[in-house]
Amino acid sequence: MVEKKLNVVEQIISLCARRGVIFPTAEAYGSLAGFFDYGPIGVELKRNVEAAWWKHFVTLREDVVGLDGSLITNPRVWKASGHVDSFTDPLVDCKKCKARYRADQLIEDELKLSVDGISPKALEELIKKHKLVCPKDKGELTEVRVFNLMFATQVGVIENPDSKVYLRPETAQSIFAAFKSVHPVARKKLPYGIAQIGKMFRNEIAPRNFVFRAREFDAAELEYFIHPDKLNVCSLFSKEHGNFKAFFYTAEMQEKGKKQEEFTVSELLEKKVIGTQWHAYWLVECMKFLTEIIGIRKENLRFRQHVKTELSHYSSETWDIDYNYPWGWKELQGIANRGNYDLTQHSKFSSADFSVFDEETKSKVVPVVIEPSMGLGRLIFTAILDSFYQKEEKGEVRNLLRLSPILSPVKVAVFPLMKKDGLAEKAREVFELLRDSGFAVEYDESGSIGKRYARQDEIGTPICITIDYDSLEKSDATIRDRDTGEQQRVKMAKLVDKCRELLH
Ligand code: ATP
Repeated sequence: MVEKKLNVVEQIISLCARRGVIFPTAEAYGSLAGFFDYGPIGVELKRNVEAAWWKHFVTLREDVVGLDGSLITNPRVWKASGHVDSFTDPLVDCKKCKARYRADQLIEDELKLSVDGISPKALEELIKKHKLVCPKDKGELTEVRVFNLMFATQVGVIENPDSKVYLRPETAQSIFAAFKSVHPVARKKLPYGIAQIGKMFRNEIAPRNFVFRAREFDAAELEYFIHPDKLNVCSLFSKEHGNFKAFFYTAEMQEKGKKQEEFTVSELLEKKVIGTQWHAYWLVECMKFLTEIIGIRKENLRFRQHVKTELSHYSSETWDIDYNYPWGWKELQGIANRGNYDLTQHSKFSSADFSVFDEETKSKVVPVVIEPSMGLGRLIFTAILDSFYQKEEKGEVRNLLRLSPILSPVKVAVFPLMKKDGLAEKAREVFELLRDSGFAVEYDESGSIGKRYARQDEIGTPICITIDYDSLEKSDATIRDRDTGEQQRVKMAKLVDKCRELLH
């Protein structure tokens, strides 16, 4: 079963390369592990995902503003945030073949144990106790060392300790460091959020599983600032949020070796398993985005609470939204309560005041932050994986991406049945009409109709329109639905409206 599922990943990687979705960077030079390019189809898909996220979390909300921070910033930001001293992963090397592994991942793979957040010393003890060796050649492993994941570079022409800077390893600090500049111009009162989509860089020890673990990736992140005494006063928390049902895997369930279970959000809030109403609100909002907008199937998602040992130094409570990947349940998104750690640290290290004046209590407070954070590459890969199907047609296996139409890189494809007898001219007219009406539309006249359908199915195009001889006589066209393969004839005059209706 696992093997079959992994095979699906191989097929998706091959589809992505073949169709210009995502492929390793600079393949002519042997590429570079953990770095990827988005091709002509991929870049459209990525823009659609970004637009959907921005619309949902920024444009449609009155309480969120945006930011686009620089990738390199004053290095003291990373000292204040703790990244210079402690943004590390544990690594081991094989003494024989020199292969390098992330120690916690190696243990998880070999012993099927979750060891997130366990100290390097404890990891080393586990390796010794279970006599773990290099999975490739059974060579002896070195002791566990820690490795800082930040990419360093320099600013200016003279290399010295003062010129050392870092490519940002998370987008969050751009928001925290800019908080003093954004707050006065945002004209918002607490609670409100600052959102950002942008690049981040992590020198991962073992990039793997395609774009799931890359070294350069985009993140979509929201820092939501709340009065520290009002974490349980969420005016946006509705009945619908309370009744929202999903699979939860609480810290206690993990510690007792139990399986995940379905709960309503209210049940877990009442038992104080979810610590605050604002945290509960954002859990629901993020899950709704993934299922209702991106279209990922809810049964493949769960909320998993971080156990004490894995909580980041700044967090009192963190939940991940996990997806059931072919290599097991893993984090797609994190939703952390970062407390007031970051703003307090920036106050300390910069000597500037990062507190805000609260009109209601007429006092200064340092806001507390709930942070939903997600890698876009991971989301795009998950959306592809979740919508990937195969069907057999005339003895051939055909790939089908049942992407949510808002994500589809091409919304409508237009084909003439033949290139001759005026069919191509009519099809181009339809193509231009749809293009001028704002659709992402593609014209294709090469190969058999079956092949052209297959090409579009594979990239998730929801609608294919064919112009045939009847179209010339009756002024209509055939519309084919991607998921069912069903066809219907629609009058030319109604084509634009029909496409709008079907894409909704
Ligand atoms: P992991 O445990 O998988 O390394 P993390 O807990 O370090 O992830 P966060 O710091 O919470 O991750 O990062 C926020 C989000 O960024 C994650 O939920 C994930 O979607 C994404 N992400 C993190 N690391 C990577 C990576 N190397 N490649 C792609 N996406 C990533």
